[in-house]
Formats: sequence, structure tokens, C-alpha cells
Amino acid sequence: MKIVFREIAKETHFEEPVKAMEVDLGHAYTAHLEPTVLEAAAAPIPGGCRVSGSFPYTVSVPCSRCLSDVKLSGEARFRLHYYPASAAPKEEEAEIPLEETEDLYVDQDNVTGEELVSQQIYLEIPEKVLCKEDCRGICPECGADLNKGACGCPAAADQRWSAIKGLSSPRKE
Ligand SMILES: [Zn+2]
Ligand SMILES: [Zn+2]
Repeated sequence: MKIVFREIAKETHFEEPVKAMEVDLGHAYTAHLEPTVLEAAAAPIPGGCRVSGSFPYTVSVPCSRCLSDVKLSGEARFRLHYYPASAAPKEEEAEIPLEETEDLYVDQDNVTGEELVSQQIYLEIPEKVLCKEDCRGICPECGADLNKGACGCPAAADQRWSAIKGLSSPRKE
């Protein structure tokens, strides 16, 4: 699926299966998206093209502490206004900061289904995802997953001993 903005003369609907893909979220953080179906509509607007749509998603992303896979699912919805890059307002003219609007000023004259899906996944997935609230992460010394138990490294052992000391000290007196 490719929406060529200038070819959209009337509201046009698209439905396209999207293959599994990897979405780079930055900082070596990648989301694995399961196959889905994108539904979109494009319509002409003064000076540009409106592209709106939605798709259900399921992605696996690494836990930001222990790197185990975390599955997230939801429904992404978008409504974007594409204008040519040459029409972009100068900073002092823009009343609202550009990043808070869904107005996009782009050099390319089209957008593909894959681009729409990867852009929305990038926006939907939080920067940090935890497999559980109290994930213990991995040992900085040996890389062991501390959710599966202590690894025996001095740093991890120290924490364990101080916790036991804390519990037993009132009983000494
Ligand atoms: Zn975790
Ligand atoms: Zn360790």
C-alpha cells in the first residue's frame, strides 16, 4: 500500500495486511511486531492530505532491566495531516510547537502502510517497559537474571546479607 498524496482526489479507503516487522525504537531497543491488518483512509485537505486509520498490535519488547521479552498489545489510532516540506511554518509563526500537532511537513510525496505502522509503534511503545514492577534486573557482574535467584556475586550477596542483618538485629537484644 502506498498513498501518493497528490493522487488523493476524494476519500479513499485502504486495508492491508502488514507482515511481522522489527521497529527500531532507538538506543538499540527493538520492538518485534506480530502480523496485523492496517485500515486507513486518505482524503484531500486544503494544501495537503489527511491520512487516518488504526490497527491492532501485539509487540514483544525487552524488559529494560532484565531484557526478557515483554508482550504488549493494544490498538493504535492515528490521524495525520501531511503537507509538503516547503509549506512548513517558520518557528516563530507556529502557534503550537510542531511536535504537539499531527501536522507533518514531509519531503516525500507518499507514505506506505509499513511506514505508518512503524511510526505509530514507535509512538505507542513507552521508552521503558518492565516485565513486572519489581523486576530485579540482571547482575552487573555476571549477567545472571536476578529474578531467578541470587547469582553469588559479592555485590548481590552483600544486599542479601544486609537484608538478613536488618531482620535479625532486633532479636539480638
Ligand atoms: Zn525484567
Ligand atoms: Zn552475578
